Amino acid sequence: MDDHPQARTRAPALTFYGAAGTVTGSKFLIDGARGRLLVDCGLYQGEKRWRQRNWEDFPVPPDTIDAVALTHAHLDHCGYLPALVRGGFTGPALTTAGTAALAAVILRDSAHLQEEEAEGARRGGWSRHDPPLPLYDVADAERAIAALQPLPPVRTDDSAGRAPAAGLANQSVCVGPGAGAEVTFVRAGHILGSSSVLVEVGGGSVLFSGDLGRPDHPVLLPRARPPAARTVVIESTYGDRAHPEVDLEHHVMADAIRRTIGRGGTVVIPAFAVDRTEIVLLALADLVERHAIPDVPVWVDSPMALAALDIYRDPAHAAEVRPDALERLRRLHGLRTAHTAEESIRLNTPGTPCIIVSASGMATGGRVIHHLRHLLPQSRNSVLLTGYQAVGTRGRDLQEGVREVKITGHYVPVRAEIVTLDDFSVHADSGELLAWLGELPETPETVHVVHGEPAAAQALADGIRREFDCAVSVPRYGERVLLD
Ligand SMILES: [Zn+2]
Repeated sequence: MDDHPQARTRAPALTFYGAAGTVTGSKFLIDGARGRLLVDCGLYQGEKRWRQRNWEDFPVPPDTIDAVALTHAHLDHCGYLPALVRGGFTGPALTTAGTAALAAVILRDSAHLQEEEAEGARRGGWSRHDPPLPLYDVADAERAIAALQPLPPVRTDDSAGRAPAAGLANQSVCVGPGAGAEVTFVRAGHILGSSSVLVEVGGGSVLFSGDLGRPDHPVLLPRARPPAARTVVIESTYGDRAHPEVDLEHHVMADAIRRTIGRGGTVVIPAFAVDRTEIVLLALADLVERHAIPDVPVWVDSPMALAALDIYRDPAHAAEVRPDALERLRRLHGLRTAHTAEESIRLNTPGTPCIIVSASGMATGGRVIHHLRHLLPQSRNSVLLTGYQAVGTRGRDLQEGVREVKITGHYVPVRAEIVTLDDFSVHADSGELLAWLGELPETPETVHVVHGEPAAAQALADGIRREFDCAVSVPRYGERVLLD
């Protein structure tokens, strides 16, 4: 451990190795006097210049990292863990029970995709590597899953009878003996298991917001109040936007579905397998119940989404889920599932109008890709986009009205109707992010704004400067700050 710079200075330091200048690849390294802790271990997605970083050597040797703490199970927060393990990391990945359950599903799927991509590149001959290698394989993912260490939940209403405001979703643990840091997970209300993470190390304290949910998430209980910290690292996905009033009746979605079915088309809904699919399915069930849309077949063409749905319905995680939503999730019926690739392909010629909900949510991979390839060229079909679409993804291109998209080496004309639904965001908007900061028991000394496109991060930073008396920065990739 002598190679740690802090072994000499002893002041803990924080380095931004991801979600700095972009929304993906979250990785924040804390160097303490006695070791290293990595908060989040996310994969870069979207623009090539960022994705290429997935393939670079990790900035510090992975075997010098004592532990990882994961805020939640989205790929851009946990999807690099198998690569870290492949690179030599052998410590625990601390997280909540919900995140551990979901991350297992997500990492296995990601490894399969990596292997498929490498195989596709081998057959297509478009890889720089010879033979093409996956970033990690299923064996690496299994080793990463074995490293996941869910912490036991604690009661949110403590024995002193205080309200759930204390909101510590999980016990503090001492990471160590190497890292000598204490880590606390606080419910963030973004997806099941999602948390903000408080790290106390060497006299410094830093609170990572993780991705923050919205107060009116239809399935999850709202986030808890954040604890005090001298340094805060806050996400800014929607740092420059206010969400429109939530359309609880989903009028735009219902109209788009009715139009599509009226012209005999298929509705494709790219949705994140985790959380978004659950919300979309509840909305569809609701629309059918209210006769706002015809009762056409709904296909959930994502084995991962169905696995995630089971985790959401699992009584083990009931403490995070709104009781009425749990009941409605359990009642969801009539869902059709494509189990095999052949069944999935047959959905492209259904013979009758239907709705296909399929991952990935930004159309960067997964089965939704071949649905788009077959269904985009016909104007009777529609694609309903259900959330944030990062720059450089096909979802973003479709949202911006491109006339053709490149899919598996082919240019596919876009004639289908493209509709963006604002009702399904699971990210706090700028006002909600500022409100979260305002709920800290004390104003932090420093706030670092991460996890946003540059304009969004800058806008949130300006808002924080206006409302709070603290230092604010938008860190660059690789920037290092002291936490003393
Ligand atoms: Zn997320």
